[in-house]
Amino acid sequence: MESLEEKIKQAGDLKTLETVRIEIFGKKGVLAAEFAKMKEVPNAEKKAFAQKLNITKAKLTELFDTKKMMLEAEAIQEMMAKDGVDVSMYHGKPVSGALHPVVETMNRIIDYFVALNFSVEEGPLVEDDFHNFEALNLPKHHPARDMQDTFYLNDGMVLRTHTSPVQIRTMQKSKPPVRMISPGSVFRRDFDLTHTPMFHQVEGLMVDASGKISFANLKWILEDFLKYMFGDVKVRFRPSFFPFTEPSTEVDISCIFCKGEGCRVCSKTGWLEVLGSGMVDPNVFKAVGYEDVSGYAFGLGVERFAMLIHQIGDLRSLFEGDVRLLEQFR
Ligand SMILES: [Zn+2]
Repeated sequence: MESLEEKIKQAGDLKTLETVRIEIFGKKGVLAAEFAKMKEVPNAEKKAFAQKLNITKAKLTELFDTKKMMLEAEAIQEMMAKDGVDVSMYHGKPVSGALHPVVETMNRIIDYFVALNFSVEEGPLVEDDFHNFEALNLPKHHPARDMQDTFYLNDGMVLRTHTSPVQIRTMQKSKPPVRMISPGSVFRRDFDLTHTPMFHQVEGLMVDASGKISFANLKWILEDFLKYMFGDVKVRFRPSFFPFTEPSTEVDISCIFCKGEGCRVCSKTGWLEVLGSGMVDPNVFKAVGYEDVSGYAFGLGVERFAMLIHQIGDLRSLFEGDVRLLEQFR
């Protein structure tokens, strides 16, 4: 019997152990042969013989079960080591993502105004005529409507041509004072080096009791904002025309490429036009039912800012979805 115990203990794997099992416990195995000897044993000794044999069988069985459990556990370990992912084997550098330059630029703009307690407002992309034009002092047949190549929908609605309708919606739902920006996408029928049918604007509006908000406030905040975005630049205001502001000004910064000396980007002028602004036209306040208030508004193209900051030559490249462009901004 000791040699049988030894055989079980020595089995190095499940296959060997199975051979041992058949040899000991099988129909033609050692134990079966021993039990078969019973009939030759004299009756008086039968009981003692059977008892001894059963004890041996129980001992061998226990030994066998324990050994089998051990070998099975070992086999599972081995299999897991073979099939599992060995993290120490991975040598490639992880690829990190990057924000799209337009999103990144928009976030920077939003951060500036949120820090000054401006609220961030949103509105629908499909607008009605009143919010997109009429309330912004652009009545029907007004020549300025032609300045914006509008996408018209069948039911008289339009894809908003600017984020200005959000100002109207915000003033309609809240009483002055208002201090808000509205970032978002806008749509125009235009496509060339510097125009895409969809682009992004951030519009700002500040309204308070009459006389409190002046052009000086507008000048201060835009100068501070443009220095925050472009660094140490000179800022100048040029008289202009927008239907929804009076007076209106276009705002230039000294060229960030040639420092004002004159180059290809600034068309040798030394200045780059970056946004439009002005004091809100009284007709706009009338349209939303505001009385005895004054305020300023400004609007800018996010792509224009992103192109200047990241020195991107072709606006269309921003929307081609080429990951190689994004990789440059990681
Ligand atoms: Zn220049």
